[in-house]
Amino acid sequence: MKKKYRCFALFSGGLDSMLAVLHMNSLGYDVLPVFFQTPFFGPGNALKAAEHIGFNLLVIDITTEHIEMLKNPRYGFGKNMNPCIDCHGLMLRKAGELMRAYNVDFIISGEVLGQRPMSQRADALNAVGKLSRINDLLIRPLSQRLLSDTLPVREGWIKREDMLDLHGRGRKAQMELAGRYGITFYHNPGGGCLLTDKAYSNRLRDLQEHDMLNEKQIRLLNIGRHFRINENIKIVVGKNSLDNERLNAFVEDQIVMQAESVPGPLGIIISRKRLKPAELELVASLLLRYSNKAPDTDWILYGEGFSLAHRIQVTKMRPEQVAEFLIQ
Ligand code: SF4
Repeated sequence: MKKKYRCFALFSGGLDSMLAVLHMNSLGYDVLPVFFQTPFFGPGNALKAAEHIGFNLLVIDITTEHIEMLKNPRYGFGKNMNPCIDCHGLMLRKAGELMRAYNVDFIISGEVLGQRPMSQRADALNAVGKLSRINDLLIRPLSQRLLSDTLPVREGWIKREDMLDLHGRGRKAQMELAGRYGITFYHNPGGGCLLTDKAYSNRLRDLQEHDMLNEKQIRLLNIGRHFRINENIKIVVGKNSLDNERLNAFVEDQIVMQAESVPGPLGIIISRKRLKPAELELVASLLLRYSNKAPDTDWILYGEGFSLAHRIQVTKMRPEQVAEFLIQ
């Protein structure tokens, strides 16, 4: 009996990854879509997309390796803090490591030659392949007819003529295929990746520049407003009650601040050194600025890990000064 070959499909939930899965499935391959999760890109969209096309999605967390890669991506960043070439390379490498455990013969990805300026030029596809260390097991079904043959083609597991020759930035061919496969909704492929967001990238760059790039700090980045006070100190201020709740969950031994006389935002100070009195006063006056119902001069309670055992009287910081500290 003819062997049924099995492949992993790198699956973002974008249209191209859905098409790659359905195309290979229509040719009789056993396709296993896999999503690699990081703090920057959760599986929500991919899970919906996989369900829409009738597949189960395997979700694998690669946070630790991704953060390490982010510190110094070999092929640099895109428009924001998105290291797309290295990121794809890492995901493929991780897929390669899992092949044996899942009894998989090769790996597919929905990349289309020349579609995106940074990550899908021919040289970028080669770079992704090299970084992945599984270059020869990689098939891009949507463009493979235009690419060099890899092992699955040379070995006859896949016929080159069954592969497609999509290329360039136009989306007409993909739309036609989507219609043929009955796809009625899809997400933007990078949509939802925080690394492509300008404001988020600025906050992340601040962590990188201050040698604070670790998982805990990264998970805090999409909560509240972030202010860089100096080399060693930043403060995060909740924007609303939901932020305050999320900040609550984050607190361990950091200094926490809140206005004494009125309900207001929580402030968490992230500092590598003990705060000097002038620094404490500065962050307290910043926090008071966001305590809308408080008078211009008021008391701020503070203490380590919610003890709020101390108080300091300050005046609201001027808006121009607040703007200088805001990371945006
Ligand atoms: S958009 Fe985000 S998840 Fe996608 S390749 Fe780029 S960095 Fe990775």
